[in-house]
Amino acid sequence: MENKKLKNPSVAVIGAGMTGILMAIKLREAGITDITILEKADKLGGTWRENTYPGVACDVPAHMYTYSFRGNPEWEHRFAHGDEIQAYFEQVSAEYGVTEQIRFNESLDQSHYEDGKWKLLTSKGNRLEVDFVVAATGILHHPAYPDIKGMDGFRGDMWHTARWNHDVDLTGKRVGIIGTGSTSTQIISDIAGKVGHLTVFQRTPQWVLNVPDRDYTEDHKARLRGNQKLMKKISNRYAFVMRNTFSKAVTGDKFAHAVISWMTKRNLRKSVRDPELRAKLTPDYKVGCKRLIFSSTFYREIQRDTVSLETTAIERISERGVVTKDGTEHELDVLILATGFNPFNFMRPMNLTGRDGLSIDKAWEKKVQAYRSVCLPGFPNFFLMLGPNTPIGNYSVIAMSEVQTNYVLKLIDHWRRGRLGSIEATEEAKVRYNDYIKAGMGKTVWVGGCQSWYLDADGDPAMWPYSWDHWVKELEEPLLDDFLESTPARKAPAEVEPLSPAKKAA
Ligand code: NAP
Repeated sequence: MENKKLKNPSVAVIGAGMTGILMAIKLREAGITDITILEKADKLGGTWRENTYPGVACDVPAHMYTYSFRGNPEWEHRFAHGDEIQAYFEQVSAEYGVTEQIRFNESLDQSHYEDGKWKLLTSKGNRLEVDFVVAATGILHHPAYPDIKGMDGFRGDMWHTARWNHDVDLTGKRVGIIGTGSTSTQIISDIAGKVGHLTVFQRTPQWVLNVPDRDYTEDHKARLRGNQKLMKKISNRYAFVMRNTFSKAVTGDKFAHAVISWMTKRNLRKSVRDPELRAKLTPDYKVGCKRLIFSSTFYREIQRDTVSLETTAIERISERGVVTKDGTEHELDVLILATGFNPFNFMRPMNLTGRDGLSIDKAWEKKVQAYRSVCLPGFPNFFLMLGPNTPIGNYSVIAMSEVQTNYVLKLIDHWRRGRLGSIEATEEAKVRYNDYIKAGMGKTVWVGGCQSWYLDADGDPAMWPYSWDHWVKELEEPLLDDFLESTPARKAPAEVEPLSPAKKAA
């Protein structure tokens, strides 16, 4: 009965990766039918479409890396491989009727807010007018290319890990790889035994935790088929372990950190016997400061006779290979750039202009911040998924998207019921929220003396410094007082106790 009174907004979802698919499913469940999904590529899947490097896998347990409402009995490995994950998203998207709604090969180029509507211009020249825009554009999708002298002159093949060149067969070749992050360690583990020689150019060593993979048997899969409850139970078990070990260890729990530290240090000591190599692989910063590597194979593979670990800094790239500062020229056929991503671009280069002509570049000129990670003052009815200070780490990003999707839907529901005329967090609420986050950073490991992609230009981690449960509570109910009063008659349905310090009553 009440549903009839609800306004039915038009929503544009940008990106058909894990978050965009989820958002489309949940919008439809809420009875919202006017949904446009724009996808820049010819395929859905986001990260898992773009990253096809050898060894690509998710180091979050597969049964935890699923939508909570749609477990997957078909996972082949504890740590699902990239193609399995891609297949899962394709299947879920088709099952829920999302795929047929996606406008492929059409990106959102321009988007500006005017008279209570978002006016959009797509790469195909199509114009749209919608009530809400959801940027489900992901975080790590802008490859970071190193600024090394001579890069253009290299005569061999060279590519970034997110732009893998499958036309080149690495068998027997002299391969170099720059970087030793999560991506590189997966690639090294996969190719070390196939190439002729592999030179790993390491600028900073990484802590590595030995978490063994496991193949799931046909029996195991058969037991899970049709049993969502059992899959949920397995997922919850993994989530419980992750929350009470890694998540705690990085956010200030001394005991949890001591345990993880002991495990990673022991792993290095036991796995690498050569003291010289071990010294090269030993970081000088706290465990977890950079994203912890989960691998049971990296140390084994790096010790192959055909692999050398080069820790002398890179001077330049020559026609034939990489020249290190000691003057050595490492001749290579292929050079792989495992140099990570620019995480602070988010939905840009999309040209986004909010209220009163405020551009996103201007809004983020001094600092890339958001209110509760998803709302941007000056950009009404716009939601950024997986925005700054989402608790990205060694936890399931799907779980994060689900929490944020639920939050966004509650906000949209307030709009549909007329409690909010437009949805725009106040500048004051954003500042307060970010001060609260900053206050919690001191006890985290991310400020533990390392450089990582978690840190912004000021050295502040764009992470969530408190517990997972605390974050979930924070996003459970929107605090309407934190939004501009564009509708005088608005009122919250219930009193909500804020966790972060709320605006003091006048
Ligand atoms: P990353 O962690 O940012 O690592 C980049 C590597 O490149 C670092 O070792 C860095 O060295 C090195 N590097 C960058 N520029 C360099 C230069 N000019 N000269 C020499 N070395 C340079 O990137 P990533 O490995 O692609 O991983 C990024 C994130 O993607 C991960 O942290 C994770 O969140 C996600 N990821 C997840 C999975 C998964 O299984 N779930 C798998 C892969 C990636 P420094 O350390 O010295 O800066």
